[in-house]
Amino acid sequence: MVRRDEFSGASLPSPGTDATKRKVTYFYEPTIGGYFYGQDHPMKPHRIVMAHNLIVHYNLHRKMEIMRPFPAEASDIQKFHSPDYVNFLASVTPETVDEQANMEVVKRYNIGKDCPVFDGLFSYCQASAGGSIGAAVKLNRHDADIAINWAGGLHHAKKCEASGFCYVNDIVLGILELLKVHKRVLYIDIDVHHGDGVEEAFYTTNRVMTVSFHKYGEGFFPESGNIEHNGHGKGKHYALNVPLNDGIDDESFRNLFQPIIRKVMEAYQPEAVVLQCGADSLASDKLGREKEKYGRERSKQETLHKSHSNVLLFPIFSNQDTCIHQSGCPFNTME
Ligand SMILES: [Zn+2]
Repeated sequence: MVRRDEFSGASLPSPGTDATKRKVTYFYEPTIGGYFYGQDHPMKPHRIVMAHNLIVHYNLHRKMEIMRPFPAEASDIQKFHSPDYVNFLASVTPETVDEQANMEVVKRYNIGKDCPVFDGLFSYCQASAGGSIGAAVKLNRHDADIAINWAGGLHHAKKCEASGFCYVNDIVLGILELLKVHKRVLYIDIDVHHGDGVEEAFYTTNRVMTVSFHKYGEGFFPESGNIEHNGHGKGKHYALNVPLNDGIDDESFRNLFQPIIRKVMEAYQPEAVVLQCGADSLASDKLGREKEKYGRERSKQETLHKSHSNVLLFPIFSNQDTCIHQSGCPFNTME
C-alpha cells in the first residue's frame, strides 16, 4: 500500500522496481482553447481545455509541475520547417488567404479544407511547438523524468507543407532539441493515423527510431505506413511500421505492442523516448471508425516504465480526419 504523502509534490511513485519517484512536468497553454478551426471542422482545440479541466478536478495537477510554454519563435520552427513556409504561416490571415496573389502558395502549402487558415493560426503553432521544445529542454537539463505537452502531437506536418490538421510538427522540433543531448531517441506513435511527418523527417538517420502503430488500408489517411517501409540509407531498419486492420481489441494490441517495444528497447537502447498518444485510436472514436479499439494504455505504460529512459509525451485530443497526404520534403538530419 502506498502512503498518501508519497504522492505529494511534482512527482509520482514509480510503478517499476526501483522505488524512485518520477518527476513529471506538464506544459499547458491556457489560451489554447480559444483557437477555432471552423464550425464544421473536426479538430477542436477546446477539447484540450476540457481534458485539462478533468485533470484539475481529479487533482492530478498537484502531482506534476505545471508550466506555461514559451511561444516558439519563427527561428525555432525553422529548425525543421522551410523559412518560406514559416513566413507564410506567420503572415497569412483569413482575410488574405483568398487573395489572388496567395492562390499558388496556398496550394503549395496544402492549405484548404483540412488545414484552413484561422485567426491566430501562427500563435497556435507557436504554443504547440513551444510546449514540445520546452518539454525537451526540461528533459535535457534533467529537470524532469517525464514531460507532457498537452497541446502537442501534430505528427502529420511536413517540412514545407501542412497536412491532416497539422501545420507545425512540434514532435520533430522536440526530438531535434533532444538530439542535442541524447545520442538515440525512440519515437512511438499510437495515434490511429500513421505518424508520417515524424517518420519522414528522420527516415534517413539512425539517431531517431520511429515506431508507428496505426490503421492502414482502404484509403485511410494518410495512406502511408506500409510494413515494408523501414527507413533509407543510414536510417534503414530505423523506421518500423505496424499496420493494423479494424477490429483490433485490447488483448491483440497488447500482444503486438509489448513484444515489439520490448525488443526495440533492447536492441536500440534509446536515451530518450517520445510517445505520441493520439486519442483517436481509442475505441469508438469518430475518426478511428467504430470498430477500432486499442487497449493500449496499460501495455504502453508497463513497457515504457520498465525502461529508465526519459519520456516525452504528446497526448493529442484531435479527431483527425481524412485528407490526402502529399509527399513532403525529405529532411536529412545530422548523423
Ligand atoms: Zn490521428
